[in-house]
Amino acid sequence: MDAIADTAQAALDAARELRPAFRGDLVLPHDPDYDNARRVWNGCIDRRPALIARCRRTEDVVAALGAARARGLEIAVRGGGHSIAGLAVADKAVTIDLSGMGGVRVDPGTRRASVQAGSLLASVDRETQRHGLAVTSGFVSHTGVAGLTLGGGFGWMARKHGLACDNLRSAEVVLADGTVATAGETRDRDLLWGLRGAGSNFGVTTSFEFELHPVGPMVATGTACYALDDGAKVLRALRELADDAGDETTWAASVWDADQDAPLPAESHGKPVVTLTFVHVGDVDEGLRLGRRLRAVASPLAETVGPVTYLDLQCGNDGAWRHGVRRYWKSHYLWDLPDAAIEAFLARGNSAGKGNSPITGSLQTRGGAISRVGEQATAVGHRGAKFEFLTASNWTDAGEDDTRRGLIRTYADAMAPYSRGVYVNNLGTEGEDRVRAAYGEEKFTRLVSLKRRYDPENVFHLNQNIRP
Ligand SMILES: Cc1cc2nc3c(=O)[nH]c(=O)nc-3n(C[C@H](O)[C@H](O)[C@H](O)COP(=O)(O)OP(=O)(O)OC[C@H]3O[C@@H](n4cnc5c(N)ncnc54)[C@H](O)[C@@H]3O)c2cc1C
Repeated sequence: MDAIADTAQAALDAARELRPAFRGDLVLPHDPDYDNARRVWNGCIDRRPALIARCRRTEDVVAALGAARARGLEIAVRGGGHSIAGLAVADKAVTIDLSGMGGVRVDPGTRRASVQAGSLLASVDRETQRHGLAVTSGFVSHTGVAGLTLGGGFGWMARKHGLACDNLRSAEVVLADGTVATAGETRDRDLLWGLRGAGSNFGVTTSFEFELHPVGPMVATGTACYALDDGAKVLRALRELADDAGDETTWAASVWDADQDAPLPAESHGKPVVTLTFVHVGDVDEGLRLGRRLRAVASPLAETVGPVTYLDLQCGNDGAWRHGVRRYWKSHYLWDLPDAAIEAFLARGNSAGKGNSPITGSLQTRGGAISRVGEQATAVGHRGAKFEFLTASNWTDAGEDDTRRGLIRTYADAMAPYSRGVYVNNLGTEGEDRVRAAYGEEKFTRLVSLKRRYDPENVFHLNQNIRP
């Protein structure tokens, strides 16, 4: 009880010290906006920080960090709040919340964008597309640029132009001791190396400078949906398509139960189905011709192929992945897709191999420009992986938490024999071994020494942590 009271008092004192010069908002548990400010994307997360410091500028970040450290308070950092583990908030901690720092400035002449660390993908996509440009970002536009980039950043442009972090040219970072560093290709290069894949461990990044590339305004995409009985054919086709695809095309497959709202013939509703999807970010007509590949695999139950604006593509999944729903997921990298892995993928952890399930499985192709960057050139791990597997579920009743998580774990365990490594940004609370697995031993050792240099006291530990 005393410890809780001490923390609350320390947070009050910190807020009192900060208030005269702080440009943002300081939100304490008794403030009307507190419940809104502590909410993150995953509806399972219900944590009560001692103070939420919504910063407006780098000086606010420096001050909040200093005030929290002086009182021994734990520090969490919030970009877009999308970590599946809810790492942006912790009980009794101070959250340095960057959501008030959302500026995006594009220079079409140099093809560079300067992006403040509280920006969401939507604003970067919108501002860059005004000039026919974009940088690799993710599939759901309300995700935070900061967490996504600092862990890698995979999206539809990654096979052509690399991960988001590969396009990061420099970053401003508030370090644990309160100094402000600019990591770039000529200064603090080691820090830039670490920011590209393990970035939440070394400081609070306050802004990013990205290199941009021409794309759109139109791109081509197509999805076909098949009965589960055709699933093995579809997945074998994915294996071949992954090998044949040019850098401008990304393929993905998924297995899920069709609900009543799915745009499928009524007789498919309530049954497991398999989808095959492509996105082509190059010539639109060339992309549309990939529709033929969808039909060649098997007879689709339904199919949509067409041009779409890059901006519509980027926010097309926003509703399905909306805020506030209870979520859990697990992921693995796959380096190949043998028939046994296909069987396990389609079975979704059900040993009978068929039945319904409230969890989904997806496989997305990697490779292309991602794999042409050297494995040790950045902190990102497993650039040679061919697919990323993800199993996910969403629900609203807390009483289903254990069942849903259990199903996901069983499915992920069934896929584990075919996998090696994991994408750090899709890790939940899975322990140090899985963080190591995200990087591999050689890189992990280098990351530990970088951590010793930049954050020897592990001030930044509410993340996928690399202990100094
Ligand atoms: C709906 C959804 C879709 C996704 N789609 C993709 C995708 O297409 N591609 C992809 O690669 N990933 C994707 N992800 C994973 C995503 O990259 C991670 O969840 C990422 O951590 C989210 O970043 P955030 O800033 O929104 O999250 P937060 O929860 O705010 O932060 C995540 C981690 O980064 C740290 N952090 C955040 N900002 C900073 C900062 N400025 N400085 C230092 N540390 C910071 C936090 O402390 C925390 O540890 C998706 C996630 C969700 C929920």
